Amino acid sequence: MKKLFKDKVVIVTGASSGIGEAIAREFALNGSKVVLAARTESKLQEITNEITSTGGDAFFVRTDVSVEADCKTLIGKTIEKYGRIDILVNNAGLSMRASFLDVDVKVLHQLMNVNFWGTVYCTKFALPYLIESKGSLIGVSSVAGFHGLPGRTGYSASKFAIHGFLETIRIENLRKGLHVMIIAPGFTSTEIRKHALTANGREQGESPRDEKRLMSPGYVAKWVLKGIRKKKRNKLLTWDGRFTALFQRIIPTVVDWAYYLEMSKEPKSPIK
Ligand code: NDP
Repeated sequence: MKKLFKDKVVIVTGASSGIGEAIAREFALNGSKVVLAARTESKLQEITNEITSTGGDAFFVRTDVSVEADCKTLIGKTIEKYGRIDILVNNAGLSMRASFLDVDVKVLHQLMNVNFWGTVYCTKFALPYLIESKGSLIGVSSVAGFHGLPGRTGYSASKFAIHGFLETIRIENLRKGLHVMIIAPGFTSTEIRKHALTANGREQGESPRDEKRLMSPGYVAKWVLKGIRKKKRNKLLTWDGRFTALFQRIIPTVVDWAYYLEMSKEPKSPIK
């Protein structure tokens, strides 16, 4: 693995926390040159310092992925410093928790702006370099990108949109050696549920899940690298996810009920 990723230039969005932070650290451990992007400079600085103080090569660019100009700057600064891009991991993301009946549509706009448009902007500016290096374009998705997740209309919509977008890019570039992978972790212990937006757009502030029992970000990160090594197309990290992908076309109503029952039993669920 180390040989494959050594000196590869990797951009990770949403690298200030959770899965993105773990992915950035994992690439650095494998000898890659890592560019960390997110909005919280203090966290990016801290993680970058830790990577470089242990012999890694990394820098950060403060980036709000929902702002096209920020994504252009991120790619520009990467090229300025390293001259190439081998891997772009579109990981920055935001979730929600509210029924569509109650939610303010501005919440859906916000989710699309970060999850979907953030992926589009970063990919737009990085794609020529990824094609040049015959590199990998990655989308960190979710089972919500394969089947509608109740209480998460905007989240599911943004992940479905990412799937359509990345799948099309894969096909457009079939002859160019570009690798495109969608990876879907299961529930992972991160800040995502605390920052999830509620019906009025305010952060939820707490997690309705027992975070100690969830997947670790480090586990997800290892699978991102393994998936790239094996040039995977889709990587679903849970049996629930694989079950969904396999059965949603054969017994979709069973999958609907499984999702309904799972999400409605959460404490204070907006799904009744
Ligand atoms: P975290 O909340 O821990 O991390 C989210 C990251 O996204 C942070 O680094 C945050 O940084 C960044 N981010 C949010 N908004 C923006 C923005 N506008 N511009 C740039 N960066 C932004 O959550 P996770 O690590 O869990 O989430 C990472 C990805 O994993 C998401 O795409 C999520 O959908 C996906 N996922 C997560 C699962 C889970 O259970 N945790 C399950 C399945 C998929 P900052 O605030 O500094 O900008």
